[in-house]
Amino acid sequence: MAEQQPVPWALLAADAATVERYRAKVYDRGPDRCAFFLGAISSSGHGKLRAGSRKAGTSRVVTAHVLGYVITNGATALPEGHVVRHTCDESSCQLPTHWATGERLDNIRDYYARSHRAGHALSDVRGPDGRAVAIRDAILTAQATGADVEAAIAAAIAAGNPSGAVQDALF
Ligand SMILES: [Zn+2]
Repeated sequence: MAEQQPVPWALLAADAATVERYRAKVYDRGPDRCAFFLGAISSSGHGKLRAGSRKAGTSRVVTAHVLGYVITNGATALPEGHVVRHTCDESSCQLPTHWATGERLDNIRDYYARSHRAGHALSDVRGPDGRAVAIRDAILTAQATGADVEAAIAAAIAAGNPSGAVQDALF
């Protein structure tokens, strides 16, 4: 039943503990580079986290980039029925400049327009969830072992595109 209620985005975005919990799970790599999510990943490859508070009755699991969008732009910037899309096609990306709102149909149209490209995020053989988990785990492992995080990200991305060698020829 709880899932049927609209998400109180404005309340969640205004909750300092929620904002802090969200930011702690975002791997920031500077402007123009995908900021991968380090928390839970859904079957569709999207970041997930618990937001709100039980005391206030707002506690629930939400999609990370949608929460990030309303924290950044305000809940009124997300009209009813709209989704937050990724212009970079990395489903776990939390970089605000890689987000755009649109209707669900735009999202589906984008997917079919791009998914056939060799070496592209949408053609990853692991699927969006396998890709997002591999990137997340590569970052966490590199951080824990003191390895080069960027090299780990590059290797994790390359592993999902066995035919990635043809990418240069196509772009
Ligand atoms: Zn991105």
